[in-house]
Amino acid sequence: KNGVMCYTPELGSSLGERMNLETELRTALSRGEIELHYQPEFDISAGGTRLVRFEALARWFHPTLGTIPPSKFIPIAEESGLIVALGSFSLERACRDAVAWQAFSLDPIQVAVNVSSVLFRRPFFVEEVKDILHRTGLSPRLLQLELTESVMLTDPEHSIETMKQLVATGITMAIDDFGTGYSSLSYLQRLPFQTLKIDRAFVKGVEEKPEMRAMVDSLINLAHNLNMRVIAEGVEREEQMRVIRVLGGDEIQGYLLGPPTPDPLQHICKPVAATASEE
Ligand code: C2E
Ligand code: MG
Ligand code: MG
Repeated sequence: KNGVMCYTPELGSSLGERMNLETELRTALSRGEIELHYQPEFDISAGGTRLVRFEALARWFHPTLGTIPPSKFIPIAEESGLIVALGSFSLERACRDAVAWQAFSLDPIQVAVNVSSVLFRRPFFVEEVKDILHRTGLSPRLLQLELTESVMLTDPEHSIETMKQLVATGITMAIDDFGTGYSSLSYLQRLPFQTLKIDRAFVKGVEEKPEMRAMVDSLINLAHNLNMRVIAEGVEREEQMRVIRVLGGDEIQGYLLGPPTPDPLQHICKPVAATASEE
C-alpha cells in the first residue's frame, strides 16, 4: 500500500527454510529428536565452586539437517505454537531427570528450565507446573523457572500474579539474560524474582574493561539490594570468575566450569582421585 517492496531470491529461500523447519519441528518431538542437555551452575560465594543446579537446554538432532541450535528453532516454535508441546516436554523431562540426580548427591541439586513467555502467559500454566511436579515427584524447591524480560512486555499484571502463585509453591523464579532486551527497573522491583542472571554480554570483558566491571558491579549491587541472588552467565575464563567473586557474585555458569552436556552425572559423581585432590 503506497510502497514498493523488492523481491530477492534470498527472501524466498529463507522463508522456504523456515517453513521446512516448522514442518520438521511438528514431528521432531514424536520422533525423539529433541533432547535436553544440562549445563552446571556453581555457587562461588564460599571461596570454592559448589555445584547447585543444572540448566536444561533443548537440543534438536535432525537426521539429515544435523544439529539445529535453539536460537533457530525456539523462535519458530514460539511463532507456530509448537512451543506449548515443546515447553511441556522440556519441563516434565527436566523434573524427571532432577529427581534421578538426587540419589547421586548428598546436597540437593536444583534444575532450571527456560520458559517461553508464550507458555508462561497461557491460562492454567501454574496448574500445569504443579501437575508436572506431582507426577514426577520433584520438590518445588528444586525447580527454578527462567523467564526473560519479554514477560514484562504484555500484561505485566497477569505476569506478576502468575509469578506470585509459582513462588508460593516454593519454586524459584529467575530473570534470564538480564541487561539486554527491555530491562525495566520498575518491573524488576515489582516482579517477585529471587534470582537475576547477568547476560554474558556483560561478563565478556569484565576482566579487562573498567566500564564492564562497573556495570557488573552495579548489577550485582542492584540485585542484592532487591534481595536477589546473582548468577553470571557465560564465564569462560578464570580471570572473569575471579572478578565476579571479588564483586560479590553468588553463582557462575559458563564454559570455564562446564558446557551443556548430555551426561550431567559426570559433575556429581566425580572420580575418587579428582575428589581427593580437590580437597
Ligand atoms: P540461555 O537460557 O541464556 O542459556 C545460556 C546459553 O548460553 C546456552 O545457549 C549456552 O549453551 C550458552 N553458554 C553457556 N555458557 C557459555 C559460555 O561460557 N560462552 C558462550 N559463548 N556461551 C555459553 P543455547 O543452549 O544455544 O541456548 C540459547 C537460548 O535458547 C537459551 O539461552 C534459552 O533462552 C533458549 N532455550 C534453550 N533451551 C530452551 C528451552 O527448552 N525452552 C525455551 N523456552 N528456551 C530455550
Ligand atoms: Mg536460561
Ligand atoms: Mg541466559
